[in-house]
Amino acid sequence: MQASNRRAVAAVASCTLLLALGVPVARAEGCLFNDAHFHLTNYVQQGTDLGKYVDEIMGDAVCRSTLFGIPLQQTWSYENSGEFAPTYYLQSDAPLYYYSFTDAYIARVYQKLNPAQQKRLDPMITGFNPADMYAVDHIRRVLELFPGVFTGIGEFTIHKEFVSSKVAGEIANLTDPALDRILEFAGEAGLVVILHSDIDMPFATAGAEPVFLRQMKDLLRRHPKTTIIWAHIGLGRVVRPVQTQATADTAERSPTYREIVEAMVNDPTLAHVYFDISWDEVAKYAVASPESVRNTAAMLNRYPDRFLFGTDNVAPSDQSAQLRVYHLWDPVWKELTPEASRKVRLENYLRLFDAARARVRAWESANVR
Ligand SMILES: [Zn+2]
Repeated sequence: MQASNRRAVAAVASCTLLLALGVPVARAEGCLFNDAHFHLTNYVQQGTDLGKYVDEIMGDAVCRSTLFGIPLQQTWSYENSGEFAPTYYLQSDAPLYYYSFTDAYIARVYQKLNPAQQKRLDPMITGFNPADMYAVDHIRRVLELFPGVFTGIGEFTIHKEFVSSKVAGEIANLTDPALDRILEFAGEAGLVVILHSDIDMPFATAGAEPVFLRQMKDLLRRHPKTTIIWAHIGLGRVVRPVQTQATADTAERSPTYREIVEAMVNDPTLAHVYFDISWDEVAKYAVASPESVRNTAAMLNRYPDRFLFGTDNVAPSDQSAQLRVYHLWDPVWKELTPEASRKVRLENYLRLFDAARARVRAWESANVR
């Protein structure tokens, strides 16, 4: 075993031990967080070497990490951008399409790692079209072809600012029975779900209820047996937390974003729902002002079991890229109780993803031969 691998094994082992003892791992061990939201590859399926990701980028700073690509491939249309090869969805008018091979790619690069490296990762299935009633067959096929690899599904996307309308074919939506089939199967097989769906349309009117909130809650309520992580708490690049605004004609006060999320956290029909606070675009809202820092910290301190930190980094080239997003949250980390900080950075990940791993392995033993 290489020295770096031995260090990694030692880091994970001591991380787990310290967690069991209730010792704050970050201080003692340099293990800052587990990454609940990580993309190895970008919109054109290029990315970081997985061995390098584990040994150098996670290194001693990140104990565990989710692992997925991006299922939506940006077409390079010569008609549209000529010799310019777009690598991001905002760089071309050409459509995005579902690139299912991403799941085989993730599985194969994972299988090439040694067991100690593998233990630190939770690969996720993403290469399906959530508007396709056959999507669930793809997910099942991936589990059958690569047993022992995957922990969950996602990040997959229903509503996302400028992405949804660029997807070739049928547009995904929260009321589609195809999506219900996917979440139903995830519950049956024990797959943890990371779902991206903006709570609102871009540039929505301040003070109005977010357009997709009702549909999202209804969808989540239909699948109480499935563990679902709502990525970015429903926020995005241009989808901002709603602001309180008393309108002159109604004199009614609409709820703040904090009240919306708090109502969901306290709703017993949504007890299976968690929120990830990944993406630098989300951090920018949390640390925008001393008041937003206070509000965010108050929420995490009050409900520390329901939030997970993640970077949402895409194909990072070195560890500083990975830690940059973490440190954007420093003003919030400082305001958290030791317990809340530990849970959001480390323990909620272990609880959810370890449970999912065990359940998926059990489903595979019973269903894959
Ligand atoms: Zn993401």
